[in-house]
Amino acid sequence: MENELKDITVIGGGPTGLAALFRSGMHEKSARLFESMPMLGGQVSALYPEKYIYDIFGIPEINAQQLVQNLKHQIKDFSHEIHLDEAVHSIHCNTNAPQFSIETKNGVFPTKSIVIAGGIGTITPRPLKIRGADKIKSGIKYVVGKKEDYENKKVVILGGGDSAVDWALELQPIADAVSIVHRRDEFRAHASNVRRMQYLDHRRKLNIYTPFSPVELNGTDTVESVSIKSVSGKLKTIPCDVILVMFGFVSNLGPMESWNLDVDKKKIKVNQKMETNIPGIFAAGDVVSYDGKIKLISTGFAEAAIAVKSAIEFIHPEKSVKTKYSSMIGKPKGIA
Ligand SMILES: Cc1cc2nc3c(=O)[nH]c(=O)nc-3n(C[C@H](O)[C@H](O)[C@H](O)COP(=O)(O)OP(=O)(O)OC[C@H]3O[C@@H](n4cnc5c(N)ncnc54)[C@H](O)[C@@H]3O)c2cc1C
Repeated sequence: MENELKDITVIGGGPTGLAALFRSGMHEKSARLFESMPMLGGQVSALYPEKYIYDIFGIPEINAQQLVQNLKHQIKDFSHEIHLDEAVHSIHCNTNAPQFSIETKNGVFPTKSIVIAGGIGTITPRPLKIRGADKIKSGIKYVVGKKEDYENKKVVILGGGDSAVDWALELQPIADAVSIVHRRDEFRAHASNVRRMQYLDHRRKLNIYTPFSPVELNGTDTVESVSIKSVSGKLKTIPCDVILVMFGFVSNLGPMESWNLDVDKKKIKVNQKMETNIPGIFAAGDVVSYDGKIKLISTGFAEAAIAVKSAIEFIHPEKSVKTKYSSMIGKPKGIA
């Protein structure tokens, strides 16, 4: 069966992509979104779901995951199609209408315009490559997820950056035991947080192992302990239920780089209307570059509004497209 033609296709389900879906709904346009990860929220869900965000204007303080929930709530019932775990592999520019065909593992999807909100691209954690890691099926985590999952667990955190230190502090009050293992003596994290962590280590409420590197994971299906080795060759084994690997993430623009777009330093070049070099393809959020670009959620929201308006102008060159105020047109369909 042929997939339905949409006015706008959004690539990427981070804050910018979700804002683009909302604006499409406000303009009463049909839209479809593709997200390569199994969940919405982009970097917010993948990299810092339990952190608080303080710079969304009008919302002085919000938990990152709650922001994603709110964004999802704001678009619900606009009847937009959302495809999770479905990366866009290629875009074909057609000579006749519909303008574009989008290809994913599940087929070909026609669309009149495209808004790329692919952020930093696909986000994959740097893997733990030590003896025993490949045979362990559960207990190795790269993304923290829900804090409750760590209640009464013995947690070993590997890494020395901000995420490793932040999570050691966040999980210490709820976990049964928290140990942090870093190959250097110095942590690459906020100094006040490092001091707090060292204070807790002094009080034996948390264990710091430096300069130690993990060498082997022990256990059958589930992780039971990790063996670590110091620079001087000293070996130690720490019992654990969960290993949190915080070696950072590798981002990759992936297929976006082969779409014949004008790309500079892994960013898509756009003008003030968020137009790319290909007519009908627009981009917004962390994925774009223009003079003065700032990578913030709020700038992504604003760029999404501009990109969607430009997309509609592209679809209807004969019409003058007005941005409607929500306060004037009333509660958008779908907001309970
Ligand atoms: C640790 C950390 C803390 C931060 N704190 C703040 C803060 O306090 N305030 C703030 O304003 N900003 C903060 N930021 C920045 C903010 O998270 C980003 O600016 C924002 O996430 C950008 O949103 P986006 O939707 O443009 O991109 P992303 O969030 O990167 O989302 C892009 C999405 O596109 C998907 N994608 C990529 N390629 C494809 C493809 N081919 N097909 C389908 N899907 C694809 C990706 O999987 C991803 O989900 C922080 C960033 C980090 C890393």
